[in-house]
Amino acid sequence: AESDIAPVLTTRRDDAMGFFERMVSKGLGWARKYSLFTYPFATACCGMEFMSVSAARHDIARFGAEFPRFSPRQADMLMVIGTINLKQAPILKRVYEQMCEPKWVVAFGVCASSGGFYDNYAVLQGIDRVIPVDVYIPGCPPRPEQVLDGLKLLQDKIGNQTHKAGHRAPAPHDLLAGQY
Ligand code: SF4
Repeated sequence: AESDIAPVLTTRRDDAMGFFERMVSKGLGWARKYSLFTYPFATACCGMEFMSVSAARHDIARFGAEFPRFSPRQADMLMVIGTINLKQAPILKRVYEQMCEPKWVVAFGVCASSGGFYDNYAVLQGIDRVIPVDVYIPGCPPRPEQVLDGLKLLQDKIGNQTHKAGHRAPAPHDLLAGQY
């Protein structure tokens, strides 16, 4: 069965890396997951919860993600916080493209994840229609604990990634492909 084959294939890919390369990759993963610079793309009410999770009480700095950067070129984690309408979508995509590899994307709240309850002609029904997303955080708005939980998920993902040079595949349903 396919499920029996998958672990074997995964092991072979790991074995294809040399010992030194694997150790370097693990070290890079460890370093990167605890030194995330955030670009907060905040558009709506979820922004208040981002401020809350950044402030002293919840203190996202404890988890190595305290630095908001307001240039995409200095950030490696794009946090999309709030409702994204169709006019903002090309701007969001441009910001994502300006970030250097490696980079990761978090959809913060249901509006960014799926459009939320704004199921209408003006709102993007999920940012994964224009850029790839690594972690979705549910909630309207998400509580700070949920945000920290999402961050831990992303850090696990980064720590387990194979860190090689190369670019990520484009978003599977890129509505803006070729338009901008
Ligand atoms: Fe506002 Fe809720 Fe949408 Fe967050 S998920 S931007 S709180 S409507």
